[in-house]
Amino acid sequence: MKLDVKRLGCQVCGTEIPPGGVFYIGRTEIISGSDGILPDTGESSENIIEKALQEITMVKNEQELMEEVYQELRIILCGQYRILYRDKILDMIKY
Ligand SMILES: [Zn+2]
Repeated sequence: MKLDVKRLGCQVCGTEIPPGGVFYIGRTEIISGSDGILPDTGESSENIIEKALQEITMVKNEQELMEEVYQELRIILCGQYRILYRDKILDMIKY
């Protein structure tokens, strides 16, 4: 992929990245996890299917459903904000 170097800038502070300059791409993937166990809610399979169909057709659009399974965030960063980006993510970890 070729990037338009002239217009490249840090998306946090707006600093323009000079041609050939150092920049970073912060990429975060949020992926639906599973422990392989399906909770036993006591519901009939018909009920479960009915509820799932309602969720698909009524409540959420296709984009929202896709994002619940997989979402990738990309952000162009200068050197200073590379560190802040990393630290903010690491700061979220409390347990
Ligand atoms: Zn910056």
